[in-house]
Amino acid sequence: VIATFDGDRIVVPGIATAHSHAFQRALRGRTQRAGRASFWSWRGLMYQLAQALTPESIYALSRFAFVELARAGVTAVGEFHYVHHQPGGAPYDDRTILSDAVIRAALDAGIRITLLRVIYARAGFGRALEEGQRRFVDADIEHAFDDIEVLAKRYADDPRVRIGVAPHSLRAVPIEGVVSASKFARDRAMPLHMHVSEQRREVRECLAEHARRPIALLHERGVLDERFVAVHATHVTREEAELLAAARSFACVCRTTERDLGDGLAQLTDLAAARLAFGTDSHASSDPFEEARAAELDERSRIEKRCTLDATVLLEAMTANGYAAIGMPNDGDRVVLDRTDPALVGCSIEDDAVVFAANASCVDEVIVNGTRIVERGEHAGYDETRRAFEAAMR
Ligand SMILES: [Zn+2]
Repeated sequence: VIATFDGDRIVVPGIATAHSHAFQRALRGRTQRAGRASFWSWRGLMYQLAQALTPESIYALSRFAFVELARAGVTAVGEFHYVHHQPGGAPYDDRTILSDAVIRAALDAGIRITLLRVIYARAGFGRALEEGQRRFVDADIEHAFDDIEVLAKRYADDPRVRIGVAPHSLRAVPIEGVVSASKFARDRAMPLHMHVSEQRREVRECLAEHARRPIALLHERGVLDERFVAVHATHVTREEAELLAAARSFACVCRTTERDLGDGLAQLTDLAAARLAFGTDSHASSDPFEEARAAELDERSRIEKRCTLDATVLLEAMTANGYAAIGMPNDGDRVVLDRTDPALVGCSIEDDAVVFAANASCVDEVIVNGTRIVERGEHAGYDETRRAFEAAMR
């Protein structure tokens, strides 16, 4: 049992969302019309948004996304950050200005952040770079490594910030780049995150380029270890899930985004042999309770059975595993839920109540690094942050 009852309260350890693209919060409710039918057409809209970002607007959008997460009980975020350069691709004079803006947004919202600095090299195997991708790409992978060193040094003394390495995907980074990123991360004990097998097309392209499925290839090249986080891991075979498990790697399922994008269903029961974590990803929804139960409830629909994973396993994925996946120690962070909230009245098993009944509005108190950032369900910065978000949206 992980959660504890304390009178009218339920106390839960800090909750981490291990995969987030905070600026994508701006897309919520705006990509749902017919004619935008595939993942790839959604991505076109996301690229338009990424094109328009400035250091100021990425800060405003991200800060609001993080305040919303904090109110929902999230205490730590793994931010998979891939917009680095100016439109057109020229680096800013201050190369890490956008990473710094996103880190500041999390700290100003009061939550911990692991900035997973993305490496992006190409549109795909044999595909020319698209205009919308220029802001993501470094002329040389060494430049990305230099930025990561600069960021790690800059935040070394702040216990609320960690830096990690994130080759975007096997589509966007050739395998040799992934292998060097993995060595770089291992030498510095940094987490290594990568989108893996989110879309069937990506698996097909990997088979065409390497004659291996993605996780089988990563295993063969020595990339899998206890700091590796396979984000999505949707189209993964049982054998691949076993490779992740044997390496003590993580699978980070982002169910509310995956269902929004029509990505397909992961084989959750097989993946649970690896260490599970969850991510908010595109912020289609910002509710860590819904995120966890969506994964399990969709597994029920997939295999036509109930109760595939216990609430305690899911709650561990939300809390301890989430922190471990982003390389962050949990130093007393906690979330307190209100048992008098209608969603929780009458629930009598702690972990089951948190995972299968709670929602973001049950959150009463959130404590991060010794500071109470949410009190009686309110975040002190909410109004100001919302106004700045709305201005950025305009
Ligand atoms: Zn993602």
